[in-house]
Amino acid sequence: MKTSTLCVRHPHGSDPHGAVAPPIYQTATFRQPTATEFGEYDYTRTANPTRTLLEQQLAALESGRFAAAYASGLAALTALTRLVNQGEEIVAGDDLYGGTVRLLEQVLPRYGVAVRYADAADPDSVRRELTPRTRLILVETPTNPLLRVADVRALSELARGAGALLAVDNSMLSPCLQKPLKLGADVVLHSATKFLGGHSDVTAGALVTDDEELHRRLCFQQNAEGSGLSPFESWLLLRGIKTLSLRVERQCSTALRVAEFLSGRPEVKRVFYPGLQGHPGRDVHRGQARGDGAVLSFATGDAELSRRVVESVRLFDIAVSFGSVHSSISLPCRMSHASIPPSARERLAPPPDLVRVSVGIEDAEDLLADLEQAFNVARPRERKTEAVAYVGA
Ligand SMILES: *Cc1c(COP(=O)(O)O)cnc(C)c1O
Repeated sequence: MKTSTLCVRHPHGSDPHGAVAPPIYQTATFRQPTATEFGEYDYTRTANPTRTLLEQQLAALESGRFAAAYASGLAALTALTRLVNQGEEIVAGDDLYGGTVRLLEQVLPRYGVAVRYADAADPDSVRRELTPRTRLILVETPTNPLLRVADVRALSELARGAGALLAVDNSMLSPCLQKPLKLGADVVLHSATKFLGGHSDVTAGALVTDDEELHRRLCFQQNAEGSGLSPFESWLLLRGIKTLSLRVERQCSTALRVAEFLSGRPEVKRVFYPGLQGHPGRDVHRGQARGDGAVLSFATGDAELSRRVVESVRLFDIAVSFGSVHSSISLPCRMSHASIPPSARERLAPPPDLVRVSVGIEDAEDLLADLEQAFNVARPRERKTEAVAYVGA
């Protein structure tokens, strides 16, 4: 079945009472047949039918056989990094979500796990950081917020050669646009808070894999640490996923218009979006993804001007996160990536003039008009005076 069908039609079984919408099994514990025989479910921390339904659907959407749903994207990432033991290493991309960097930089070293960074868009850069102790390669593609593109097929070969797992964070595109397992990744990470949920009303994460043994170890970790997603949040996510492919389709087409609009603005020095001609990762991206996503960023060369643009929009929410039906705008350096510790800022923090935009499902004309008025309000004063002076001369 195609992805848009998998968003709506559940791949497994149906409710015994014919409920079209799945029930929420809002129970912490399950009655057992006897003291020595156990039913399919015994305790919700371990497993819950509403969560199972979600996990089956996430697995189907990512073309894997197994998925585990977590309380957040970072809870999923934590479970993943638990596969790496003391004395072993992770090689990670150097443009990553700020909270990911915080975990890698400020939590993992306390457990004796070292992280080396490489430009994920350059397989040679990744190869140079591999050592006999590397257990995990972790990348985003496109990256957040600079929209760099990692070649998943090339990285999966490197990982295989090094005896490491390749994990791809697919939060920026969703399985409607990219299926990293099909490209050779061992595990797909999601902040389901973003496109999968799509309504900014649920915080959730997931790990999807086709490897049964890997899944078993992840589930052990999920149960041992109590990081599984609650029944109600699982249900919200099941509901959100139903419209995923429609939302993403609309968001992508509007995002391209926004990217083109921004490219034409005199205040904008550079637009980062793989859908634009001239994006350095465009060919690799086209070879592994079906669309360009709804997140883009741009630089003005002037942090103060960027701040004024962000603060002058009316329709976009000034908010972290992305992938929602509501458009949002942010200054990553001051917002989503402010959690990058000072020691790592020079290498891993986005530039201060970078603005990130997440395009929602509002009317494209309204969004473009809002950006236009924001640029006009935010434009530096000198330039206006110059123009007047020129006319006067
Ligand atoms: C938001 C995000 C995360 C973290 O997910 P939470 O659900 O906020 O914990 C991880 N990776 C990427 C790319 C993200 O954007």
